[in-house]
Amino acid sequence: MNETVDQLLAGPPLGASEKELVDWISRLEEVKCAAEAVQAEAAVRLDEAVRVRQAEAGIPARKLGEGVASQVALARRVSPAKGAKLLGLAKILLAEMPHTFALMKAGLFSQWQATILARETACLSLEDRRVIDYQLCAPGPDGEPPAVVAMGLRQFENAAKKLAITLDQESVVARAANAEKDRRVSVRPAPDTMTWLGALLPVKDGVAVYAALDQAAMAARAAGDERTRGQVMADTLVDRITGRSTTGAKPRVEVKVVMTAEAMAADSDQPAMVEGYGPVPAAWAREALADAEVFMRRLFTDPAGQLVAMESRSRTAPEGLAEFITTRDGGICRTNGCDAPIRNVDHAQRHTDGGTTSAANLQGLCERCNQAKEALGWQARPGPDGSIITITPTGHTYVSPPPDTWTPDPPPLSLAEFVLRDLLLDHDLAA
Ligand SMILES: [Zn+2]
Repeated sequence: MNETVDQLLAGPPLGASEKELVDWISRLEEVKCAAEAVQAEAAVRLDEAVRVRQAEAGIPARKLGEGVASQVALARRVSPAKGAKLLGLAKILLAEMPHTFALMKAGLFSQWQATILARETACLSLEDRRVIDYQLCAPGPDGEPPAVVAMGLRQFENAAKKLAITLDQESVVARAANAEKDRRVSVRPAPDTMTWLGALLPVKDGVAVYAALDQAAMAARAAGDERTRGQVMADTLVDRITGRSTTGAKPRVEVKVVMTAEAMAADSDQPAMVEGYGPVPAAWAREALADAEVFMRRLFTDPAGQLVAMESRSRTAPEGLAEFITTRDGGICRTNGCDAPIRNVDHAQRHTDGGTTSAANLQGLCERCNQAKEALGWQARPGPDGSIITITPTGHTYVSPPPDTWTPDPPPLSLAEFVLRDLLLDHDLAA
């Protein structure tokens, strides 16, 4: 496709094929990303021009730039607060994150993705921020786009968090301690006389609450409850907090922390992973593990490691292998751009098409993606580097990059050096 922006905006021609229609959608997405980059550039130049004019008019230095954010907000039809954030991001992009900005200009990165990276690097020095900008967003040796382009937002956020922790664990820990002070509960209206109840919590508590609700849902469904998973979780939340029903038993909540053996030793900078959340500093993990009743097991080392290397003859992944895949994929659906939690571990290449029940050919998918993949004309297969290649009915190919727990060689497909700790927290949710 070589259409100009004007041609793209005029819309696809009558009788366009399915492939052309998908191309049109994808090209317009690139135009939107590039437009956001140019908006950022214009905002920075506006800020510079206004400052020069104000200085010439004798306005004191501390007041220079006043009113620019509001002008940006009006022009972009957002609130003044949002305008200030957009102007702030624009300055960071142009001055401190050149590779991120270049990806946006090339149409491969959205303003929202850039916002996540700016946020995750906010506590770092300028030097460290530049390192992360380069490591995540610079093109490959042959000019190919970096892997972050295909990542889902959660996966991308995790990659940025991990790098930040690796570069400057101290700053990340200090910022986390400070953030805990902001814990709170909020409620806001939702359509159809519903409400959103939200809670900003330290990761250990938030993940534990969610895991407790998830476990209640699984138990209910196993007992034949016909409510959906979401319905049971919502009902259980209300029941336990309001004391509407008290089961008496304290729920035993399991939070999975995956870390390398090295990270368990003191003074390591390697991040740990909390399943359902993402990377945390090893120092934080060590402290949390010291706090709670901890059940530790080695994951997928001998003899269980053989299970991972071993192909299963059965059509469905055995439990240990399914858990391995979920941990390997970080608990997040492998579809590009999807951030939903994994609900199914299934074959990339179908069993009936000769796909094996092995770690290489299995992927963790959310319910929706697992269904989409079963639709007519969809295909998938594993790539040699641990990626999953999905081919849609129009022949478009999407590559899901390998998770960074992937260790290609040797041992293949093994998390042998990883240690999984289950954090068992006694959370009494009945207030
Ligand atoms: Zn999904």
